[in-house]
Amino acid sequence: MILPNENYPVWHPYTQMKGAEIIPIARGEGARLYSQNGEEYIDAISSWWTNIHGHAHPHIANAIFKQATSLEQTIFAGFSHEPALLLAQKLLNRIPFHQKVFYTDNGSTAVEVALKMALQFWSNQGIRKSKVVCFRDAYHGDTFGAMSMSARGVFTQAFQPMLFDVIFLDTPHMDNEEEVIAQYLQLIQADKNQEIAAFIFEPLVLGSAGMLIYHPQLLDRLLEISKQYNILAIADEVMTGFGRTGEFLATDYCKNKPDIICLSKGITGGFMPFAATTCTQYIYDAFYSDEKTKMLFHGHSYTANPLGCAAGIASLELFEVENTFKNIDRISQSHKKFADQLKTYTGVKNIHTCGNYFAHGVSDFRKFRVSPSHSR
Ligand SMILES: *Cc1c(COP(=O)(O)O)cnc(C)c1O
Repeated sequence: MILPNENYPVWHPYTQMKGAEIIPIARGEGARLYSQNGEEYIDAISSWWTNIHGHAHPHIANAIFKQATSLEQTIFAGFSHEPALLLAQKLLNRIPFHQKVFYTDNGSTAVEVALKMALQFWSNQGIRKSKVVCFRDAYHGDTFGAMSMSARGVFTQAFQPMLFDVIFLDTPHMDNEEEVIAQYLQLIQADKNQEIAAFIFEPLVLGSAGMLIYHPQLLDRLLEISKQYNILAIADEVMTGFGRTGEFLATDYCKNKPDIICLSKGITGGFMPFAATTCTQYIYDAFYSDEKTKMLFHGHSYTANPLGCAAGIASLELFEVENTFKNIDRISQSHKKFADQLKTYTGVKNIHTCGNYFAHGVSDFRKFRVSPSHSR
């Protein structure tokens, strides 16, 4: 354990440094982390939900090494490279209703790009739409746009005057589905000049809000309504992507599809800071023009970093060869068993699990709701 003193050079995220106790990690293997003096930790939070195939997986490690010895980084405006194209193709194979991939390097920027895509999509067509609908308990990241579209609270309080207004929709849970749908329709009706540009949501699970789970059928209805009223649907799959809810994407449980999807965290199997925002052809087409000013005004120095691309490709290969979905099945079964066991403990409340119950064609998800109450 490190107790940082005034000579400690690092400032840790989401950490009050005064009195902080920091665990120095030396090594990772599979689901475990090992500290400098050999203590063993189960990485139950998957290193902030990034790790997919276990720590230091040799297939991904080797792919990064190989890429690093040929091309480690290049400007991506006006230049391209094989790993970027290959990864885009592999992602789009998993998201067949999308046609384009825009790379960045973390979840917050994937969300910023999604928002800018949605807003400029309308503005490029000369249509005035700039309002955004979000869930009341949402978390979409730490940059200003992402914060603006997230729950207001202690995380955002100091920045409150700088955050733009959004329209909040009650967070759905298992007992308020009809109310949420009615509320969505109401706020659309109240938007007399049809200025709502987009609806952004964490599909099925609101992670940072406390793993709040809601049913895919409800999401399907919200997506349907969005389509009906010309509101772009942005799925923030930063946490739920890459098999976290049983399917490859959480929105895979829905018939109606989002126009824009944000991916990060698991995209490289947890190896590299990397992200992608994917979209449909019609979003892209609104930017495709003889006018230079209609291009998407966004880019980062490390956009499409080849090492990130190589890790992403290798991680997706593991989805194909390592029975990853069988493992997800196995893990979700044991979560269910463990949740049943925990239910008998009086000191434990609010147990959530969705695993792949949706995937097993369970129409009444209520049956699997372990937690009787909904609270933060
Ligand atoms: C973690 C997270 C983000 C932000 O991603 P960072 O890489 O931490 O910036 C955005 N949306 C959701 C749903 C997340 O879980």
